[in-house]
Amino acid sequence: MRQVVLGKSGLKVSAVGFGGIPIQRVSLDQAVRTLRAALDAGITFIDTAAGYTDSQLKIGEAIKGRRDGLVIASKSSQKTRDGILADVDRARQELGVKTIDLYQLHGVSSPQTWEAVSGPDGALEGLLAARDKGLIAHIGFSSHNLDIALNLVREEVFETVQFPFNLVTAEPAEKLIPLARKRHLGFIVMKPLCGGQYDNAEFAFKFLNGFPDLVPIPGTESPEQVRQIVEIVNSGAMLRGAEKAQAQQIAASLGKLFCRRCGYCQPCPQGVPITNAMVFEGFLRRFPVAKILEGPGKGVIEKADLCNECGQCEEKCPYNLPIRQTVKRAGELAKKFAAEHGRT
Ligand code: SF4
Ligand code: SF4
Repeated sequence: MRQVVLGKSGLKVSAVGFGGIPIQRVSLDQAVRTLRAALDAGITFIDTAAGYTDSQLKIGEAIKGRRDGLVIASKSSQKTRDGILADVDRARQELGVKTIDLYQLHGVSSPQTWEAVSGPDGALEGLLAARDKGLIAHIGFSSHNLDIALNLVREEVFETVQFPFNLVTAEPAEKLIPLARKRHLGFIVMKPLCGGQYDNAEFAFKFLNGFPDLVPIPGTESPEQVRQIVEIVNSGAMLRGAEKAQAQQIAASLGKLFCRRCGYCQPCPQGVPITNAMVFEGFLRRFPVAKILEGPGKGVIEKADLCNECGQCEEKCPYNLPIRQTVKRAGELAKKFAAEHGRT
């Protein structure tokens, strides 16, 4: 497969990677078969996170005896030095590797988060110490907020940026991607399939084939999905003519509903976790039951129905999304889901 160098990190990886979210909800056996199909197809880049429940463990099992030549990335949303060092240690144990090739600050999407992680005894200090000790090799960050990401790519310390980029949310092509190129950061594309909302893999990856220096990390949960995506990436084919028009039409209609998780709409005076409510349907498709009940879905189950439709959030959303309507639907789905799993 074509290789891409992740900016100034110098890490050379396959033109498409493997995203570690969906394997959380399949059996160990299926996760291992899917990952090995990815490795057999030439994928050498695997990305996961401390917060993806058992994803690191499953990856560790799948890469046993096959570590050489792979670039393994993980990330943590811990804010403190000690917190992130504990996550780095856990990642090394679960993945079964001495050094994690790339470790990222996970989800730096608000000024408050950046202030906490970059301050004294913050997570960034922890990552620098981990790199000095050889526990990790390179440092990156992930974000959903364009303004924050634009600021962070200017920080010398980061070697990679991970940000959503796809047919529906193509805004990073205007400023973020050019700036990352200029500053020599590797660009890792999260949500190449819009977090599961866009199911036409052919169109999605033909679009991304137009950006050959970026590395998408689709989340896949079956060997068939992996092989399909690798085939499109290997073909190098791009969207053209009628296909391009059709893809843009679908993207335009989805874009009116797709939450970028940028957080501009928060906070909600009623305490509704708006971003998680906006993507709650995606959680139902991609996360295991326990993670929804105890993780990011918990607040939606408990608080979505506190929305009094004041509309403040919609005034702040730069994409004019119908937040009130989506929060209401998320609240209904969340209550139903909780009842189905004995949490009434
Ligand atoms: S409309 Fe609902 S979710 Fe939005 S700010 Fe008001 S109470 Fe919060
Ligand atoms: S609803 Fe709008 S402002 Fe809020 S996170 Fe989603 S895209 Fe951003």
